Amino acid sequence: MNRCLKCARPVPADEIAITKKLVNRGATSFYCADCLAEHFQVTRADIDERIDYFRRMGCTLFAPAAGKEETA
Ligand SMILES: [Zn+2]
Repeated sequence: MNRCLKCARPVPADEIAITKKLVNRGATSFYCADCLAEHFQVTRADIDERIDYFRRMGCTLFAPAAGKEETA
């Protein structure tokens, strides 16, 4: 399990993916959504929106929206 570089919380796959998108595609250390939000001075909801956005775009870094509402 990858842990947040800043707060040491476990970082779920989507948050690893958004770190790669927002920070560095080749990132090998990751931040949780809360720390990313703080780093970019946005809200946690903004990070979640970005995750949803990239997922909807079909970005392969993000897991398909399993168990979430889908607009199929
Ligand atoms: Zn963190």
